Amino acid sequence: MQVLKFGGSSVADATRMSQVIDIVLPAVARERTILVCSAVSGCTDALIAIGAETDAERRAQQIETLRRRHHGMARRLFTGAERREMTEELDGLFAELSAAPGEDCVTFGELFSTRILARKFACEGVATQWLDSRELVRTLGGVVAEGLTYAKILSAVDGAPDCRLFVAPGFIASDGDGRVTTLGRGGSDYSAALFAAGARASTLEIWTDVPGIMTANPKVVPAAATIPDISYKAALTLAENGAKVLYAPTVKPAMEAGIAFSIRNTFDPRHPGTLVSGRPAVKEGEWMGVTSLTHAEKGETSVCLVGEAIPGRASAAGRICAALSEAGIQPLGEVTGEGDAFFIRVRPTVEQAAVAAIHHEFFESRAVTVIPVFVAGYGAVGHELVRLIGLSAERIATRRGRSIRILGLSDSRRFVADLRGIRPEDAEKRLEGGENAAEGAFIDAMLACAPRGAVFVDCTDDMQLHRRYAEIFRGGISIVTSNRRSLALPYVQYAALKAEARQNGAFFRYDTTVGTSLPILESIASDANCSDGIESIEAVVSCTLNYIITAYDGAKRDSLGTLLRRAQDVGLTEADPRTDLGGQDVLRKLLILAREAGVPLEAEDVEIVPMLPREFFDCPLEEFYGKLAVYEPQFVAREAELDAAGQRQRFMASLRRDPSARLGYRAEIKMQRVGPESPFYWISGTENVTVVHSEYSAPLVIKGAGEGVRLAATGIIKDILM
Ligand code: ASP
Ligand code: MG
Repeated sequence: MQVLKFGGSSVADATRMSQVIDIVLPAVARERTILVCSAVSGCTDALIAIGAETDAERRAQQIETLRRRHHGMARRLFTGAERREMTEELDGLFAELSAAPGEDCVTFGELFSTRILARKFACEGVATQWLDSRELVRTLGGVVAEGLTYAKILSAVDGAPDCRLFVAPGFIASDGDGRVTTLGRGGSDYSAALFAAGARASTLEIWTDVPGIMTANPKVVPAAATIPDISYKAALTLAENGAKVLYAPTVKPAMEAGIAFSIRNTFDPRHPGTLVSGRPAVKEGEWMGVTSLTHAEKGETSVCLVGEAIPGRASAAGRICAALSEAGIQPLGEVTGEGDAFFIRVRPTVEQAAVAAIHHEFFESRAVTVIPVFVAGYGAVGHELVRLIGLSAERIATRRGRSIRILGLSDSRRFVADLRGIRPEDAEKRLEGGENAAEGAFIDAMLACAPRGAVFVDCTDDMQLHRRYAEIFRGGISIVTSNRRSLALPYVQYAALKAEARQNGAFFRYDTTVGTSLPILESIASDANCSDGIESIEAVVSCTLNYIITAYDGAKRDSLGTLLRRAQDVGLTEADPRTDLGGQDVLRKLLILAREAGVPLEAEDVEIVPMLPREFFDCPLEEFYGKLAVYEPQFVAREAELDAAGQRQRFMASLRRDPSARLGYRAEIKMQRVGPESPFYWISGTENVTVVHSEYSAPLVIKGAGEGVRLAATGIIKDILM
């Protein structure tokens, strides 16, 4: 069982009621539901006025206005016989209202709204039952008799096992004498919590017109942000001290029954809102929000700053006073309170200024921008990326003012997407319980729910994924990829992707595709795109080949085959190491390098001389290793010859200005001999070296570790944050 509650502005008119129906129908399909509703907005105020009206004619007029408003809604929502019956039902209720004593008038609003909704859902084919909250919710001496109320609610829902949806008016109840009463202004939230506790619901959603509980009233502080997670206690403190989004008595029944509840925005149903629970995903010492409450009779306003288990009062008090004094506000006394609530009193005239000043100090100057990411690929790199996002969260927040939140994750089989975020430490488990990722379901889910500013991270080695990049950009989502295959496309397609990103205000970053986390692409791009022309780029960017060539000692210790297998085992090579030996992987890198330098190079423009002759490549992998052993003496001889000449060989990619070539540049990938004067001579292990000659600047040499999952993950994070 779940309970969904909608406030007055969510059901203000027929259009909004239709939005409510759109939210409720899929929810009902999932689980049995109790729908609790307020009166349509403004109705309760109007009813209070009607109750107080002494002039009979004016009273009749006011009732007529309200009746017409509800009739109008019925006309929009129903047709034919349903419309007639609805109108008659409403007229019956309005007749009761006309005859009701003044103090009872206020209790009719929720009857109108919920009768309309209950009938509407029945028309939609849902097994629906209207519940009379006046029967079920009972008060004694002005407070809710919880035991009695819960027992009545439970027996009502248990007694109707075939019913899928119960619709119950919020706000109203009856007292010990059986007279109708209310739970106080804004009481529908409280009704919903009582229904949730009574029916032993697993969840409670309170749908309203703002995106959850915010760090301050957004009407006073435009920079206020939604609080994603909060404890019952802190939520209660905010509600008691002036936050209007939640009616304070709501918290207790939910807390005692252990029901986590969320506060969501009817007008933005994808927004996750605020989750209020006993174990919120917040750290001790985190600030939650600032509220204010004016006591007109005392002529003062109490501003309250709420946090989760803040240690000590001194530093909070110091910052509060400093912020106020900077804003020119003189407090009326000292800061009081501790732990989760700090109070300061000010004059009512400066209420808003005080809230804004304190909000600025505690929530804006250190505001951390959340970057939502969806990660495709949970292999070695994806795994390390998720781990590193968790490990460096603290550092990224303090040094860069940003926080990377993983909202989606997929491997080749499954995916999870959760707007509340996936904790890195839970990633594995969440993925196991995830949904089927076949047919691009992950991308579909992401496109359906990604919030503004979201980044899609491709750390797969999927050949096809790039086909969806354009669509992702059109969804306003940026892309960071370490997947070279997505970039080694014909130039027109590559250029179209870059244009698509730009047109949609998204970014497209792939710095890790060449030299992993070395700043090669950014350096080339900033030269070439600004004022300098590129003369040549030479790059040793194949870790596999470097590793083999630099580790080889003439077969004294390890044969070529052994080294290659070892490189394959530690994940240095592509799945078939011949993709590296044949220059295919370097080719992709050279295409990216050249295009970044403004040269629209195509694969056909590149002359490749593989390290080994053709016949090594056109055979099964095991046969290849056999041939390699036969070939080895030739390799040894060549090494000896190079040694004698004081040279070394490097598998190099190069792009050089050459007026006779198609694009004015000649592109080659082949073994080159280099002497000790060359920056390529001294390379160990998996180091990469790129040398860029440009028109105006001295050669730029970028050298450093060029491979490893940790570096790849670091580079991806750099791209996300850049
Ligand atoms: N209709 C009632 C009020 O306006 C109860 C509610 O909306 O929660 O106070
Ligand atoms: Mg309300």
